[in-house]
Amino acid sequence: MGNTQSWATREWQRPLHVVIVGGGVMGCATAWFLAREHGARVTVVERDASYAKASSALSVCAIRQQFSTAINIRISQDSLAFYRAIGTALAIGDERPDIGLIEPGYLYLAATEGGAGVLREQHALQQQHAVQTALLDPPALVQRYPWISADDLVLGSLGLSTATSGEGWFDGYAALQAFRRGAVAAGVTFIEDDAIDFVVNTHAGTSRVQAVHTATGRAIEGDAVVIAAGAWSARMGDQLGVSLPVHARKRDVFAFEADVDLRASDGQLAPLVIDPSGVWFRPEMQAGRFLCGSPPRDGDPDDVPLERVDHGLFDDFIWPILAARVPAFDALRVTSSWAGYYEMNSFDHNGLVGALDPYANAYTACGFSGHGLQQAPAVGRGLAELIATGQYLTLDLTPLRVSRVAEGRPLLEKNVI
Ligand SMILES: Cc1cc2nc3c(=O)[nH]c(=O)nc-3n(C[C@H](O)[C@H](O)[C@H](O)COP(=O)(O)OP(=O)(O)OC[C@H]3O[C@@H](n4cnc5c(N)ncnc54)[C@H](O)[C@@H]3O)c2cc1C
Repeated sequence: MGNTQSWATREWQRPLHVVIVGGGVMGCATAWFLAREHGARVTVVERDASYAKASSALSVCAIRQQFSTAINIRISQDSLAFYRAIGTALAIGDERPDIGLIEPGYLYLAATEGGAGVLREQHALQQQHAVQTALLDPPALVQRYPWISADDLVLGSLGLSTATSGEGWFDGYAALQAFRRGAVAAGVTFIEDDAIDFVVNTHAGTSRVQAVHTATGRAIEGDAVVIAAGAWSARMGDQLGVSLPVHARKRDVFAFEADVDLRASDGQLAPLVIDPSGVWFRPEMQAGRFLCGSPPRDGDPDDVPLERVDHGLFDDFIWPILAARVPAFDALRVTSSWAGYYEMNSFDHNGLVGALDPYANAYTACGFSGHGLQQAPAVGRGLAELIATGQYLTLDLTPLRVSRVAEGRPLLEKNVI
């Protein structure tokens, strides 16, 4: 992908200064790559250092390659490689971050011939990208997972762990903090403040963002600005007159205990199981503890307060499906619950990454629709390359370009959980 001359050296003869709005996993990863790989000066404006409402802190933190689009498969493979090596990549002196990544796989289940056809189609796409998945018919499913009720099933697709693929989960908050600490060690400045709008300059037909205004009256000048404000990114886009189709959509997560240790017949921990109904569950490391959730039942309104966990969703919808799929879940105890926002891109359920037209120096990484934590390393790396050099150098993220919205060319991701 050619020219690696730094935009910073080309235009300014001094380190490029990038101001990032939002210090969640996307903002922190982009900041770290910019400072560490490109020698940029970076300021991150994050309004809440406790991350009380940030998606990165309220996530289920799973990673998979079972996507329906090639770009998401490639992003996930590169991010997996980064997360596997995070202890080295983000070490600060002797301090090596540990995100507890484990790879028991994702198990997608289909109960119709149509659903099985989709799994087979995606299996072929995954094989083209050296992603190993096993297609299991009902007898094979029961042989591997004796606790599963497979009478109504047609097929399952299980992600396998190899050099080029691996599905599982990790501690997302630890990953966020590892990027943040790594960024600070690389010289990035974090400012706890609310970005409210931008100072824009138009000269000879070219518009540039000159500064970010904050609630406490700062005007932080930069050579480039990035909107990485998660579920709140559309509000920042509005300040630039750019419409980003990103919505805050609440998702509830329930933790429960059941008197069962779900393992495969070879002793491996159970995978993250996605029932044909959309209900999902996965084990925690401690035997007998699980997490579960589902897509919303009735509509998907914006900005529902996070305090309003829908307990009826568990009692009336999720639990009956869990008990039908795993009879041992007939008796269980919900121990806690929480809610966080998916930063849902209503246009095509995929990330929006890259330049923000018509500005010459504005960028975004937002709209990841529930798969952003696993994509942060590859997206942060790519966006940093684009800002610092004017192009993608490692993985071409052009399919996620923001302009596809205005062009009316969706890149639909079918596998949104
Ligand atoms: C319940 C749930 C389960 C999930 N499960 C998975 C999963 O299994 N795998 C996966 O990959 N992803 C998952 N996700 C999605 C993932 O968590 C997100 O895609 C990812 O964390 C997005 O990171 P972000 O940095 O873009 O957003 P955030 O983490 O939300 O960070 C944005 C930050 O911007 C700050 N901010 C916003 N506006 C301003 C402003 N004006 N000024 C200053 N700061 C501002 C906010 O305070 C926030 O800290 C899940 C999400 C939820 C809610």
